[in-house]
Amino acid sequence: MEVYIANGGVKKCDCCDKDYLVKFFTCTACAPHSSDNSVDICTTCCLMYAREAHQARCGPNHQFVFMRTRRQCGGCGTAISSDYMKCNNCSFDLCMLCTVRRRPMEIHQHTNRNHTFNYSAWLPHNKPGPIRTVQKFQLNWQWRCDVNGPGCTPYITGPFFHCLDCDKPGFDICAHCADFGGIWRHVRQTGHRFSFLQQESHIETSDPPPPYQPF
Ligand SMILES: [Zn+2]
Ligand SMILES: [Zn+2]
Ligand SMILES: [Zn+2]
Ligand SMILES: [Zn+2]
Ligand SMILES: [Zn+2]
Ligand SMILES: [Zn+2]
Ligand SMILES: [Zn+2]
Repeated sequence: MEVYIANGGVKKCDCCDKDYLVKFFTCTACAPHSSDNSVDICTTCCLMYAREAHQARCGPNHQFVFMRTRRQCGGCGTAISSDYMKCNNCSFDLCMLCTVRRRPMEIHQHTNRNHTFNYSAWLPHNKPGPIRTVQKFQLNWQWRCDVNGPGCTPYITGPFFHCLDCDKPGFDICAHCADFGGIWRHVRQTGHRFSFLQQESHIETSDPPPPYQPF
């Protein structure tokens, strides 16, 4: 997986508002990652279709790349580019070379009592896979968005997200509302799973939709 390094700026997830992101995905078609208006998504929201929702709303050219914020070793001053040790109490990091030397960590812990270190992986451990493709089906049904956020249209026409765990009449989220955190808010409250669907046409058919794939 290719890793791009972000230069400064505090990054916040545009989906769940998680702040101070260290590992995230950024949209290459929206504002550049150095700008405050960049579209950045945390790795947790990636698992909840945040990238798919953004592409469904904004277009297939809205591709995402994995980014990390720049880290610098407090021991030797070099830029960190692999797994490292991170101070749990301040912004001090140590590269693995300085960690095995032990002296830099001892100095930091001597001047900062109670500071402890944790291993931090360079890549996300729950690495989100590639963007998932929409499952198309044919059914004579009109789907309504149950989030109805600002800018939402009453009937869903394009790809949408269907909750697999809500009882009838179900819970569906249009791409627009999903791109503004709709799935994340529903999952946070319920722990439910979603599938990514698109109705191909309003033709008369009694065929059931294909088996849904949850995330
Ligand atoms: Zn998020
Ligand atoms: Zn974008
Ligand atoms: Zn978006
Ligand atoms: Zn170092
Ligand atoms: Zn510290
Ligand atoms: Zn639900
Ligand atoms: Zn909506």
